[in-house]
Amino acid sequence: MKLLEGRIQKDGVVKAGGVLKVDSFLNHQMDVELFDAMAEEWKRLFANRPINKILTIEASGIGIACIAARHFHVPVVFAKKAKSINIDGEVYATPIHSFTHGREYEVIVSRKYIGPEDHVLILDDFLANGCALEGLMSLVKDAGAVVEGVGIAIEKGFQRGGDRIRATGAQVESLAIVDSMDEKTGLIRFRTKEAGEQ
Ligand code: 5GP
Repeated sequence: MKLLEGRIQKDGVVKAGGVLKVDSFLNHQMDVELFDAMAEEWKRLFANRPINKILTIEASGIGIACIAARHFHVPVVFAKKAKSINIDGEVYATPIHSFTHGREYEVIVSRKYIGPEDHVLILDDFLANGCALEGLMSLVKDAGAVVEGVGIAIEKGFQRGGDRIRATGAQVESLAIVDSMDEKTGLIRFRTKEAGEQ
């Protein structure tokens, strides 16, 4: 998506350790007009999917998911980072390894808000190694619901998450795929689409 790629080129900052900082428009200060254009694009890409719920993870996914929900006309559920292990059986829970924080934490979703009747679109800001998405996909599976697709704002194509998630057969739509980025020069290269791809 050219609009997002242009914004990453303009305002993204390449940090050490393969981290791209986009907090001036995506995950701290939020450009809601840009989110709206992203949501429109996901709506087009998942037009033939019977989506009745959007699932994301706190905190950075929530803003994106809420704007997308205005286009899909469905509720948003966000997986919460649990403070303590939940043993009362009212939630689905899964461990996730955090790329940015380098540690493992548990995320939960209430059994009340996701169930076998749901057809879920999973949305998140970044796809790096794919741990966050794998966790969200396993919550959906535990609930007996269907993953209709995965929408990502920025995929870091030089990490292995994209391949891992696509290998499950899921329709993964990343609006910008960064194939390489250079911390010293700040140069960011995007994956170009094959002829015929949208
Ligand atoms: P994964 O689980 O795919 O390794 O990482 C995805 C999560 O880590 C995302 O939810 C995102 O919050 C965070 N993340 C991964 N890479 C980056 C990055 O380069 N920049 C920022 N800002 N967040 C990232």
